[in-house]
Formats: sequence, structure tokens, C-alpha cells
Amino acid sequence: MKLSTIGEFGLIRCIANLCHADANNVILGIGDDCAAIQNNRQYWLVTTDLLTEGIHFDLRFITFYQLGYKSLAVNISDILAMGGEPEFFLTSLAAPSDIMAEDIEALYSGIRDLAVQFNISLIGGDTTAAQNHCLTISGTLIGKSDAIIRRKGASVGDKIYIAGYPGQSSAGLAILQKLQKPIDLDNLAVSDPSLVPFAPLLRRHLTPTPKALRTNAAITAMIDVSDGLLQDLNHICEQSQVGFAVPTDKIPISQSLLEASVWLNKDPLEFALRGGEDYELLFTSPDDLTSAYFHIGDIIAHDRIIIDSQGVERHYQNNGGYDHFKTNSTS
Ligand code: ADP
Ligand code: MG
Repeated sequence: MKLSTIGEFGLIRCIANLCHADANNVILGIGDDCAAIQNNRQYWLVTTDLLTEGIHFDLRFITFYQLGYKSLAVNISDILAMGGEPEFFLTSLAAPSDIMAEDIEALYSGIRDLAVQFNISLIGGDTTAAQNHCLTISGTLIGKSDAIIRRKGASVGDKIYIAGYPGQSSAGLAILQKLQKPIDLDNLAVSDPSLVPFAPLLRRHLTPTPKALRTNAAITAMIDVSDGLLQDLNHICEQSQVGFAVPTDKIPISQSLLEASVWLNKDPLEFALRGGEDYELLFTSPDDLTSAYFHIGDIIAHDRIIIDSQGVERHYQNNGGYDHFKTNSTS
């Protein structure tokens, strides 16, 4: 069977069925944002992500510095999504031999600058030549946590929250694809003043900076939005064996996204519900956290329902977010 038929998540299920992690101290293997390994009263969290040219990035629109920054950011996001603190990073490169050494230095400057913000140590990696002029960066991040928060754990009656505006990154990508040029984010007001209103979208796409939750409230389940809000909420609900009700009126849309959607002639809600790579935390809690986070819906027993602005209910179809092997992917 072709991967395009079973899809990315079907493939991951197939791998998980083939390879069980049987060791007693493996608390979580395949299936969450990180693997979790018990170490006395703490957990080690381990996550790995791969960025490959032509699939995850286009060097016509992203600088090497931004790419390095993002390669660490996507991994930090997974550690934060489990309530952990990132500590040690390993990064591996498959690089075409005609790439300039200065570009790889810029890539590592991006990694270093974000690592400094989170007090992360780069402790190793691997390097190889790549064929077909295709650059690949793989990052593995190790973190620690006293109490892990899983995708599994949401209960009926919990509220669903998102920690930041969704759809920002995919709109940023759409802008870059329309412009077909790299952006100097630090000098936008001088280099491209007309793009200043879109800066938060471009920044979210090129140099996302993940943020940990700041609350002592009970968080019952959590994921970071990498595949799209609805698809990632669906991951929480599949693992927690619950449903969701999300009124689209509750989805926060930033002013930048509204303005960019007009410029792009696109529906802002499509970016917000289905756009990938936001790396915002999506979580559930029985508590009222509306003073700090966006309350976007509620956990219900079975159905997965989106309620439009007219009050019409639609059942969620699992075909809108990002899947690496399916042709209906939107980002
Ligand atoms: P995220 O978007 O949070 O990075 P993914 O959707 O990439 O998560 O992965 C979901 C789960 O599947 C994770 O536990 C990850 O480690 C696991 N996984 C993904 N690809 C593979 C693979 N090729 N082999 C083994 N495990 C995998
Ligand atoms: Mg994740």
C-alpha cells in the first residue's frame, strides 16, 4: 500500500504496532509530542524533528539564520507541549557540498541565539554530504519535567484553550509565496514598509519563539499546534477518547491575519483552523483561564463539531490539516 493511501498518521500507527518500547522506565513511546523516560521522580523528555528542503522550507524565502532558529524552535515547542523544560540539543546536517560554510555558520547562529534564550546546550550531532542539492536538518532535544502533560487526559466538560493566535504561520508562508523573496525581519520598516502590518505572521513562520504556559491551573491535556488547530485538537480527542465542540466565533483572529487575508484574498478562518506550524500550545483544563488564554470551545463526549457563525453544526472531517503523504494537505 502506498504511503499516500495510509497517510502520515497511518504510517506512524503501523510503526508503533511493529516496535513496542517494553522497558519499564519508558512511560511514553510513540504517540505524543515527546517520548518520556522515568528517572527517579523526574522524567526525561526526548523529541526529534526533521526539516528538509522543498518540504519544510524553501531557501528562496528563508535565511539560513532563520532556518537554524526554527529547527530548534520546533523541538522546544514539543518539550513545552508536555510541560517540560528543554536542556540538551543535538543537531545533524545533510548538506550539499556547494553550500557556503558561512551559510552553515549563519544557521548555527540562529540555533545558538534561540538556545541562549532557553538556556539550552548544544551537545552534538552528525554531518554528512547530501545529493540532489537538498539540505536536511534534524534536531533532537532532551528536556526534563516533574509532571508530564500528555495528549491523553481531556475529560468531558473541560474547556479548550489556545495560548496564541492560530493561523499566523501559514498566512506568513502564503505571503512569502506570493512575494517570492526573502524578508529581512529586523529591517522591515526600511526594506518593505508595506509589509509591516504582516510582521507578526512572517515572524511566526520564519522565527517562531515558543512560550511555556504560565499557570498553576490543572492542565488535563496538551499539544503544540504543528499540523493545524483542528487536526491537533483531533489528536488530543483521539487519545483522550472524547469529542469537541468549537464555535468558529470563538477562534481568535489577529488583526494582522485579517489584513493579510484581504491582501491574499483568502478566508482567515481557514488559516486559523487548518494552517500548520504555529507552535502555539493547545490545551484543556476544567479551570477558567480566560484572563490569560483564548477559550475556543469545550470537550464533549463523542462528536467532533464545528459550529459556524450562523449556529450551523458541521462534523469535523479528518482531512484538513497537514499530512506529509496525503495530497489533500493544505499547508
Ligand atoms: P509532532 O508534530 O508533535 O512532532 P508527530 O506527528 O511528528 O509529532 O509524531 C507523533 C508521534 O509519532 C511522536 O511520538 C513521534 O515520536 C512518533 N513518530 C513520528 N514519526 C516516526 C517514525 N518515523 N518512527 C517512529 N516514531 C515516529
Ligand atoms: Mg508536537
